[in-house]
Amino acid sequence: MRGDGGRDSQEYLFKIVIVGDSAVGKSNLLSRYARGEFDLHSKATVGVDFQTQCLEIDGKEVKAQIWDTAGQERFRAVTSAYYRGAFGALIVYDISRRSTFDSVSRWLDELNSHSDTTVAKMLVGNKRDLEEIRDVSVEEGKNLAEAEGLFFIETSAFDSTNVHKAFEIVIREIYDNVSRKVL
Ligand code: GDP
Repeated sequence: MRGDGGRDSQEYLFKIVIVGDSAVGKSNLLSRYARGEFDLHSKATVGVDFQTQCLEIDGKEVKAQIWDTAGQERFRAVTSAYYRGAFGALIVYDISRRSTFDSVSRWLDELNSHSDTTVAKMLVGNKRDLEEIRDVSVEEGKNLAEAEGLFFIETSAFDSTNVHKAFEIVIREIYDNVSRKVL
């Protein structure tokens, strides 16, 4: 999506959504990325929440508007409005809870059924700091990502590992997708 009428100050605006089962760390990944904050007892308010991050790529100002389900998934009621216009997605599971990994294909199906454009997708295995109770191996994550054509990364919102990297790889890929189309 090209920005608002070519104003130099804001050339690109990308919507990115975060999906995954309840309590995998979606809200904390976003608050860690956008505000540098982590909350051990976070209780999301039900609804939709988004944060905007600005960054510069190739001398262009890029705004990433990152949406969090904010608890909607607990009721399996993530609406089509949530997905509409998304150019990127993080599909998150918790490496210490296999059931959340098993749900990834359902989230992918849902994402694919709502998108009508190329969506840059990153599979995110969060809570990497909980190595001692790991329930999903790095290899399994990698293999799934490869089979589904996704980027893959393991993160920890708790200690910040790879959080910026996860978002920025997706933003860069969207930028590349969009600039290929524009040129
Ligand atoms: P959401 O429901 O997917 O948005 O998950 P939240 O961000 O609300 O996190 C659910 C719980 O997991 C909270 O108690 C968080 O403190 C915790 N949590 C989130 N990310 C991490 C992480 O990287 N490591 C650990 N150890 N806990 C995390």
